[in-house]
Amino acid sequence: MELKELPFLTNFGLMLTYKCTIACPHCIVKAGPHRTEEMRVEDAREWLTQIRDYTAEKGIKAGISLTGGEPFYNRELLREVADDAAKKGFLVSVVSNAYWAATREMALETVKSLESVGFFSISTDQYHQEFIPLSFIRNAVYACKKLGKEYDIAVAAVSEEDPAHLALIDDLLEFTEKEKIETALIAPVGRAETAIPPGTLEFSPEPCKASCSMASFPIIFPDGKVIACIGPPIVIPGRHPLHLGNLKQHPLRDLLQQAEKNSILHAIRVFGPSSLVELLRDKGYGHLLPPSFQTDSICDICHKLFSSGKICAALEEVAADDLFTKKVAYGRYYYLHEPEMMEMLDLVE
Ligand code: SF4
Repeated sequence: MELKELPFLTNFGLMLTYKCTIACPHCIVKAGPHRTEEMRVEDAREWLTQIRDYTAEKGIKAGISLTGGEPFYNRELLREVADDAAKKGFLVSVVSNAYWAATREMALETVKSLESVGFFSISTDQYHQEFIPLSFIRNAVYACKKLGKEYDIAVAAVSEEDPAHLALIDDLLEFTEKEKIETALIAPVGRAETAIPPGTLEFSPEPCKASCSMASFPIIFPDGKVIACIGPPIVIPGRHPLHLGNLKQHPLRDLLQQAEKNSILHAIRVFGPSSLVELLRDKGYGHLLPPSFQTDSICDICHKLFSSGKICAALEEVAADDLFTKKVAYGRYYYLHEPEMMEMLDLVE
């Protein structure tokens, strides 16, 4: 088994706003111009301080991703948080739809205005393009290249073989390299649950077997909620295994110490969410499982498992088993070279 090593807690997301200049039909968080929730700048500063203190103590070099909604919707907030994060020693990235890049000049001016941001992740796909033409993406890429900023282009698709997706990739390759394009499959969650036409996504009875590197990077919401990844679990209401807690109730240190011991979270990182499906089947809970999972999508597994209160309760019970916890701790150590869980469980000789 080969795992892409993306060490635990080397990036934290701050969801600055639910506001967005557009309202894409595949948006998980249902962002749009009508939304009002935003992170308070004083909360962001406080949480960045807590992240800095925790990561410094653990010797982790961490990055901060500023996301939304559309973080440029409130540029003052974006700039203040980005500057504060950079001042605290973080590498700062921002995720944006590039609505500000109508011309090369406008793109240059905007990218230049955010000195603290070192990395731009630009979102585009056939849904974004109903609102923001490809020329904007081209201009944003031009500005990043011209100003020496790192960037990638994040593309969502119903399948990697979808003709519309392949045509878009061809268009992108006219002005960027293949390595800069990151494709993610659309999950039938949030607005996509009803807006993506039925029959567009593919499903099969067996879950996708891949492991997940994105569960290394928690994301913090304006209300203080902390979720272990930026996938579909961010919209599941209430408690579930990837809900790490709330910073308005507990300090970050407490939530992250708990997360270090969260065997469900680390099983997803090491063995993939399909390992939880296998575990539930082995322990006699197969009848609780959904009949099918989205083809090639590991996020759909998490969404389906953690959306069910009964499955969450069953998982909590089976994951409390000592053998399972030890297997995950050894897996973290062996595949990801992370001894923390072994040390916490006193398994290191
Ligand atoms: S596979 Fe699960 S843990 Fe990983 S990003 Fe998707 S939803 Fe999150």
